[in-house]
Amino acid sequence: AKSHAPGSVRFFVARLGEQVRRRLVLERDLREAIERGQLELHFQPKVSLRDWTVTGFEALLRWNHPEHGPISPVEFIPVAEESGLILQMGEWALGQACLEAARWPDPLQVAVNISPVQVMAQNLPDAVQRALQRSGLAPHRLELEITESVFINETRGTVERLHALGRLGVQIALDDFGTGYSSLAYLRRFPFDTLKIDRAFVRELLISRDARSIVRNILALAQSLRMSTVAEGVEEPMQVSVLEAEGCDMVQGYYASRPMPARDVIEFVLNWGE
Ligand code: C2E
Ligand code: CA
Ligand code: CA
Ligand code: CA
Repeated sequence: AKSHAPGSVRFFVARLGEQVRRRLVLERDLREAIERGQLELHFQPKVSLRDWTVTGFEALLRWNHPEHGPISPVEFIPVAEESGLILQMGEWALGQACLEAARWPDPLQVAVNISPVQVMAQNLPDAVQRALQRSGLAPHRLELEITESVFINETRGTVERLHALGRLGVQIALDDFGTGYSSLAYLRRFPFDTLKIDRAFVRELLISRDARSIVRNILALAQSLRMSTVAEGVEEPMQVSVLEAEGCDMVQGYYASRPMPARDVIEFVLNWGE
């Protein structure tokens, strides 16, 4: 019908209705997936630029929908955050990641993504403590990746909550640095152990002098604040060379390896560098 032409109000409302419906279906299916144990973690290595050893793995959620196939976390994490499902899902991921890592050779760390919604929920330190106790993983082998968006609605509690986590002896990384929040003031208020340079900068590294200059300055900032540095989304050998020349500590990305199922991790580590 004419009134459903693109740009018309009715077209817009129809499209909006579709989006809302998809979201509701997604939420319902996600709840079911959590209850039925249909979520999985994959693990992607971080590699030291000093000696090219694997230092640890980042845990990444995977959801293989029974009808629609794999759904990206970019799509289902926001749904989980808005519905509150992220609390249950995040706690599962934390527990599962620690159980896996407890079986890995000793210095290897596991990094778990933590949503700002989880940080603001009171029980995160308890959940972390529980995951460590149940798995027997030493606290220093667990790293929590937190994005700077946690500071967008910063309240007096935010920094205190991060300190409460830090007191457990786990490492805390600042994820996706440079993409979210424009103020650097929070860097003075909380001592992150690690800074992760977002893929957006790495992607431009070889083609844009500005991107290289931004990366150089992020690295200098991190070093002066005694944070270690990881570059994300590293796909090409030339990116590795530039990051090495600029003094980045670690790289993560398809160049070293794509994320892999848990069962492949130990063999990957044993074969690494051969
Ligand atoms: P992130 O934390 O920035 O994770 C890195 C993303 O980059 C992952 O996407 C990873 O598969 C992808 N990646 C790694 N190396 C490369 C590369 O060389 N090139 C390209 N193009 N991509 C690369 P993924 O697994 O789809 O996850 C997307 C986002 O979903 C994550 O971004 C994170 O924000 C969120 N996420 C994933 N798992 C969890 C989780 O357990 N909890 C929470 N709260 N968020 C999660
Ligand atoms: Ca991350
Ligand atoms: Ca990231
Ligand atoms: Ca990212």
